[in-house]
Amino acid sequence: MPRKFFVGGNWKCNGTRESLAKIIEEFNKGPSVADADVEVVLGCPFVYVDYTREKLRKDWALSVQNCWIGKGGAFTGEVSAEMVKDAGIPWVILGHSERRHLPELKESDETVATKVAYAIANGLKVMACIGELLEEREAGQTQAVNERQLKAIAAKLKEEDWKNVVIAYEPVWAIGTGKVASPEQAQEVHEQVRAWVASNVSPSVAAEVRILYGGSVTAKNCDELAGKPDVDGFLVGGASLKPEFLDIVAAYKHK
Ligand code: PEP
Repeated sequence: MPRKFFVGGNWKCNGTRESLAKIIEEFNKGPSVADADVEVVLGCPFVYVDYTREKLRKDWALSVQNCWIGKGGAFTGEVSAEMVKDAGIPWVILGHSERRHLPELKESDETVATKVAYAIANGLKVMACIGELLEEREAGQTQAVNERQLKAIAAKLKEEDWKNVVIAYEPVWAIGTGKVASPEQAQEVHEQVRAWVASNVSPSVAAEVRILYGGSVTAKNCDELAGKPDVDGFLVGGASLKPEFLDIVAAYKHK
């Protein structure tokens, strides 16, 4: 079965009711994707989920950008996977590089993997992010870093869990920097990631799992990236708060 193109947005810690209403109005003008070969999921801040759901077109789904590592309880300020599910949100972004690397957060591979497994066990779908820092790329460690992050996740999942996972390869040096990976750089890593999944999970999961590219994707560079055989979509930060996100969604036509 061909892999359905996937475009995720990540609003991060941005937006007000006023600014989001404006951008949602723009998004609602775009062509329907209900019968198109693309799935669109917007990663919304928790407090704006209901507001966004009410206003946003119904052929796009919503995600949150984090959830607690396990069952809810005495964890002040946290939101559990069960709550996300109960609120009717199908997706969660986990392992984003900001959560892995910000000194205030510093989520380990093990923490990310535990969150991924718990979210899936509780009925959510996960955009699981991986990717290397600039110094790791320069030291020739890109593949090793991605495989280490993936290995931690794979160790906690059963084969059937992978149908609820999309992998987002997001080189940290490309996130929010305007320095996009070239289509060749993205393809090289996506191919390595798929090969790793084939050898360490199963060939059928490798054939089916969608691998997104994330890092300074824009309306200008998305079509060429989408043309690469192992690029199955995007996770988009900055441009997901702009009308050009509609052009990025339309990149599925270049598959
Ligand atoms: C992201 O936050 O996942 C991301 C890819 O950001 P940007 O598109 O702004 O680089």
